[in-house]
Amino acid sequence: MAEQLIIAGKRQDAAEGATFSVTEPATGKPLADVAKASAVDVDLALAAAHAAFADGRGTWARTNATQRGRVLHRVAELLREREDLFATTEARGAGHPMGDARWEVGAAAGTFEYYAGAANKHFGQVVPVQDAGLDVVLREPVGPVALIVPWNFPLLIACWKLAPALACGNPVILKPASLTPLTALLLGDLLVDAGIPEDQVYVLPGPGGVIGDALVADHRTAKISFTGETTTGASILKSSADHIARVSLELGGKSAAVVFADADVAAAAADTPMAVFGNAGQDCCARSRILVERPVYDEFLEHFTATTKAIRLGDPLDDATEMGPMISAAQRQTSLDYLGIGTGEGARVVTGGEVPDREGFYLTPAVVADVGNDMRIAREEIFGPVASVIPFDGEEEAIRISNDSDYGLSGSLWTGNATRAIRVAKSLRTGTLSVNTNRSVRFEAPFGGYKKSGLGRELGMGAMDAYTEVKNVFFSE
Ligand code: NDP
Repeated sequence: MAEQLIIAGKRQDAAEGATFSVTEPATGKPLADVAKASAVDVDLALAAAHAAFADGRGTWARTNATQRGRVLHRVAELLREREDLFATTEARGAGHPMGDARWEVGAAAGTFEYYAGAANKHFGQVVPVQDAGLDVVLREPVGPVALIVPWNFPLLIACWKLAPALACGNPVILKPASLTPLTALLLGDLLVDAGIPEDQVYVLPGPGGVIGDALVADHRTAKISFTGETTTGASILKSSADHIARVSLELGGKSAAVVFADADVAAAAADTPMAVFGNAGQDCCARSRILVERPVYDEFLEHFTATTKAIRLGDPLDDATEMGPMISAAQRQTSLDYLGIGTGEGARVVTGGEVPDREGFYLTPAVVADVGNDMRIAREEIFGPVASVIPFDGEEEAIRISNDSDYGLSGSLWTGNATRAIRVAKSLRTGTLSVNTNRSVRFEAPFGGYKKSGLGRELGMGAMDAYTEVKNVFFSE
C-alpha cells in the first residue's frame, strides 16, 4: 500500500488517488509508493490550514508561547527516540551514510530544542514615542506557511523550517522533494504524536511544478520558505508576486575554500575533501572551488588527492561508509557531463569521476586540477562530487576570484595570520564563512546567501522574525 499524504494531521490518499514510486539510490530499485498530491489536495490543505489559523485566533496561534515550547521539546525527544527509524529511512531514501544520517537526526532534534527555548523569548517592544500614550510593537504569527524542501538533506532542512514556524504559532504545509518524501511523512506523524494540534500539520508529496506552484500562487499561503535551485526560487518569486507573499529563499552555491600559503596546509588538505564530497557533493555549501596559493598548490593537491582516494565509498547502511551514492542517475550524469566540459576547457582530472561496477548511482569523487575561474566547472553549480582546484597569487587575487561568482552562500579561509583572516573575511561577498574549518551551518546562527544564493536568512533568532508579522499599536492616554 502506498504511503499516504497528511492533511490536518491525518494520513489519507491523494484526492485523485494517484501515487508515484520512490527509488533507493544505493540499488536503483523501487523503495516505496507514495500518494501523489494534486492541486485538489493543495486546495483542501490550504482551506483547512486557513480555517485553523482563523486570522490568528486559532488554537495553536493562541496557545501561550511557553506551552508551544514544551510541545517542541517533545518533538525533539521523539526524534531522538525514533533515531533508528529516521536515520535508516534517510540512508535508504536519500543515500546518506548511516553515520551522517544519525548526526542529522541529532541536529534536527537540536533545532527543535533551540526553537523550543526561543518560543517565549521572542517578543515585541515598547516604543518611546512623542505622543502621550503607550506605543507597543507586537509579534504575531504570519499564517499558513508553505515549506518547500529539496532532496539533498530532506529531514534536516525540513526541521530548520518547521521548528521556527511552529514556535511562532503558524500552521505548516511541508512539500518534500519528489525524490525524497519519506522522512517528511514520518515527521508529520511525529509532530502530531508530540502534541502539535492536528489541524496545524500538512505534508504534501507531489510534483513541484504542479503542487509547489499551486501552493505558492495561492493567496491563503501567507509565507513561503523555499530551499532549492536558484531558477526555482526565481519562479516562486514570480508566482507569489500577485498576493505579496512573504518569501525566504535558500538557493544554490559555488563556494570557495581559500588556502593561503601561511595556513596549516596539511590540516586544510585533510579537512577539505569532505567539505566538497560529503553527501556525494550534493550540498549547497560544498566547497566546490578550492583556491590554493601557488607556493603550496602542489603540496596541497598531493595531500588533498590522497585523502580523497581514501574516502570509503559504499552502502549507506554500512557504518564504515563515508560517501554513498548520488540521488539519481540523472544527477550523476550531470557530474559526468561537467567533467567532460572541464577537460574540454583544459582542466586535468587527477583522480575519480568513475562509475564503479555496482548497482546504484555511485560516482567516485573527482579532483580536477589547473582549473581557471572562467571555466564552466568553476562557475556553475554541479551539485555532485567534483572539486575544482584553482591556483592564485596573493591576497587580492584570492578575494577577486572568490567574489567572481553569481553565488555567495558559504566559504572557508585557511590561514595562520589572524589579521589577514579578518581582512579577507570582511572582503568576501558570502553569507556564511568559516575560518580554519569548513563547517558552515550552526542552528544557533543565521544561515543564507548573498547574490543568487538567496533571500533572507534561516536559523538563529532571526528566523523567528521571518515567521511573524510586526504590529504596532498605539494606546492614547
Ligand atoms: P529544486 O529547486 O528542483 O526543488 C526543490 C523543491 O522545490 C522540491 O520540493 C521541488 O519539488 C520543488 N519545486 C520544483 N518546482 C517548483 C515550483 N515551480 N514551485 C514550487 N516548488 C517547486 O531543487 P533540488 O531539489 O534539485 O535541490 C537542489 C538545489 O537546492 C541545489 O541548487 C542546491 O544548491 C539547493 N540547495 C540550497 C540550500 C541552501 O540552503 N541554500 C540547501 C540545499 C540545497 P519536486 O521535487 O517535486 O520537483
